[in-house]
Amino acid sequence: MPLVVQKFGGTSVADAERIQAVADHVARTRRAGSDVVVVVSAMGKTTDELVRLAGEVSSTQPPRELDVLLSSGERISMSLLCMALADLGVEGVSFTGSQAGIVTDTEHTRAKILEVRGDRLREVLARGGVPVVAGFQGVSTARDITTLGRGGSDTTAVALAAALGADECEIYTDVTGVFSADPRVVPEAHRLARVSFEEMLEVAATGGRVLALRSVEFARNHHVPLHVRSSFTWEPGTRVDEEDPAMEQAVVTAVTHDTSEAKVTVAGVPDRPGLAALLFRALADRGVNVDMIVQNTSAHGTTDISFTVPSGDLPTSTEVAESLVGELGAAGVSSDAGVARVSLVGAGMKTHPGVTALMFETLAGAGINIEMISTSSIRISCMVRAERVDEAVRLLHAAFGLG
Ligand code: ADP
Ligand code: ASP
Ligand code: MG
Repeated sequence: MPLVVQKFGGTSVADAERIQAVADHVARTRRAGSDVVVVVSAMGKTTDELVRLAGEVSSTQPPRELDVLLSSGERISMSLLCMALADLGVEGVSFTGSQAGIVTDTEHTRAKILEVRGDRLREVLARGGVPVVAGFQGVSTARDITTLGRGGSDTTAVALAAALGADECEIYTDVTGVFSADPRVVPEAHRLARVSFEEMLEVAATGGRVLALRSVEFARNHHVPLHVRSSFTWEPGTRVDEEDPAMEQAVVTAVTHDTSEAKVTVAGVPDRPGLAALLFRALADRGVNVDMIVQNTSAHGTTDISFTVPSGDLPTSTEVAESLVGELGAAGVSSDAGVARVSLVGAGMKTHPGVTALMFETLAGAGINIEMISTSSIRISCMVRAERVDEAVRLLHAAFGLG
């Protein structure tokens, strides 16, 4: 019997009616002859609400306790869905991440999955039931509850699909698939029928939150085909899979944007070997994930180094940089939370010159200043002022004929 993992995001289980609609869909899939493992997110904005509550109660928020709190949202959805399934004559059996055998490292609030045991899920499948697993969570090697970072239910779903050898992993959400830009920002964006893992990795890494980055990495590494689709219309959506060498690659597939990063600048760093290493080692040791880095050409023997970090890491990063000003012999540190990134992603840009030029011309035409630039072989990103990023996305989407 084919096995499919079906993941339902927060909006897909936002209220009683939505949960019943999901139960109905799961029951139909089961009756059509597939084994199903379900992964659920917390209902609606529950996780945001829990984060807010933690912030009201505590300024220290011990990470272990925060994870216990955040993991509770998904437990509500999984039990309610199993009840709705029972009404339809389907045996749904709920499992927390820990019960499902999802073992993680000990990095609270951003734990990585180390192993998926899944024996209890196989037992339920063997007797014809439907395991319903709480997304976004696991149990650490120190036996504490962990969460996988925001959007982590996608990662749970793909990890289970890989571990159980599922034929496909379906990600049900509030849009009909992966679009050429965030449809909330660009109403004329179009749905992509197919996206390669490589392109999807770039989309997810640059703000296209429709799939969590780690879930795409997992899918690519374990060859799990994904199908992103809507739980409101149930129509076929976007297939995310290996690149098809027979297909002509679009020069630009999608425009993405990300407002979740901030910029730190260390000014007047002497132009000597070892100083950048010192700074970025110190940041790494504090667990900061540095993204873009720009070092200006040196003038009079000194240079400015700017880099971006997730906004949440801005205080730590600034503190680390400031603590090193003396040792670096730098002039000072400044931080800037008002930046945002706009990116173009497309596998065809490898072989098509002129993409960068048109991108810069488009931004220049609107007087949008580019503060930093970074590229990969299939992506170009520019840092711009946050208040102009939506406009930048719309202009680029039109300039590259994606509408
Ligand atoms: P879920 O709760 O189902 O996990 P998310 O909110 O995490 O849903 O992801 C879906 C959202 O991702 C959409 O509502 C959409 O606004 C946003 N999004 C951003 N970029 C894209 C894109 N390129 N294609 C589709 N959706 C996108
Ligand atoms: N509920 C978690 C979040 O909001 C995980 C998820 O939905 O994927 O981030
Ligand atoms: Mg999501």
